[in-house]
Amino acid sequence: MFKRIPGTKDILPEETSSWQTVEAAARRIFAFYNYQEIRTPIIEEASLFNRTLGSTTEIVQKQMFLIHNQQDTYALRPEATASIVRSYLENNLEKTSGFTKLYYIGPMFRLERPQKGRLRQFHHIGAEAIGSGQASLDIEIISLAEQLLKNFGITGYKIKINSLGCLKDKQALSAALKKSLPEKLTRLCADCQLRAKHNVLRILDCKNQDCQKIVKTLNLESAHLCPDCLGHFQEVKCGLSDLGILFQVDPQLVRGLDYYNRTVFEITHSDLGSQNALGAGGRYNNLVRDLGGPELGAIGFAFGVERLLLVPNTLNQNSAKKLVYLITLGEAAKSAGIKILNQLRSAEISADMDYLNKSLKGAMRAANDAGATFVLILGDDELKMNTVSVKDMASGAQRQVAIQNLTEELK
Ligand code: AMP
Repeated sequence: MFKRIPGTKDILPEETSSWQTVEAAARRIFAFYNYQEIRTPIIEEASLFNRTLGSTTEIVQKQMFLIHNQQDTYALRPEATASIVRSYLENNLEKTSGFTKLYYIGPMFRLERPQKGRLRQFHHIGAEAIGSGQASLDIEIISLAEQLLKNFGITGYKIKINSLGCLKDKQALSAALKKSLPEKLTRLCADCQLRAKHNVLRILDCKNQDCQKIVKTLNLESAHLCPDCLGHFQEVKCGLSDLGILFQVDPQLVRGLDYYNRTVFEITHSDLGSQNALGAGGRYNNLVRDLGGPELGAIGFAFGVERLLLVPNTLNQNSAKKLVYLITLGEAAKSAGIKILNQLRSAEISADMDYLNKSLKGAMRAANDAGATFVLILGDDELKMNTVSVKDMASGAQRQVAIQNLTEELK
């Protein structure tokens, strides 16, 4: 028998209602903020990610699912921002609509070591606002992320923010780190010793406790920011406070990808264990230009759907369905029953029947298992009188209803 590949998951019918609820809630909230959905292919040229995420990042170095063709190398998308900016430019969205607010829902792929909350195929719900560098947009994006969590009925999360500053500031921070680290280098983990050479900023958010202790001694808070970036960060923090959004400034938050600058943020939840991020995002003011477009500010974020469903939430509480279950007794009743079923479904009433020729008792049990709110029983007696017996499964009350009035009565 075949098995699913490690790090992938079958989302079974008992779970899909929570998935549909989270997706529907997200779509509703995105609409209030005037974000429109974009759906890009899950497969892109691998070089799109090398160029944008950075060739020394963990995702590009170790985690891309690559497909080699005769001439080309494709990748299953590890994230959506690069694809969306590619699509934005390829489809001239900057010319048609200038400032654009987009959202997406879909699978992402990373060749990681699977563990709780870390899969090789997982799902993002995310947003990208492209075309503005204003701090007010950072505030909107972070408040939108929080609004989504509120609507998913999730509490107990923490919002951490930081500013990486502009390209020059990032370079200054890297240089400062490189200067202060050498004598501590041998005490860093093996990964960080490599990062010190290729991607020194990532040392700041290494999860290794010893590395964290060393980084804490470096006293980094906003010292690398130029006056413009400092002002921008100040505006973002004030705006969030004005909206009553609670956040912590975390100078160690750097995010793993090259394209980020200025505001970065992460939302964590203590119930998640070691993979504690529910979602994260940030500004990427140089990405549009780096992919051949104009100089445009942009910011976005993504939540991991699997992780949203791992923390306490109210997403599976609103899924009480109404189902009518028809039990027919005898051949004549069966063909009349098929018509009734058709009539109910056309009137937008969810309806089903027994397809296994079960006994009345067996069919009642099946109706119960299916969560039916009403059971209709159609036998020879009912057929003669053009009625059905309608049983209310909650109260147990049963009565005869004329077939012609059935839809009205059930509604
Ligand atoms: P990232 O692009 O890594 O910042 O991811 C954004 C969010 O996606 C994270 O905060 C997680 O909630 C989720 N996520 C990232 N990688 C994985 C993974 N391998 N498995 C499950 N969820 C993930």
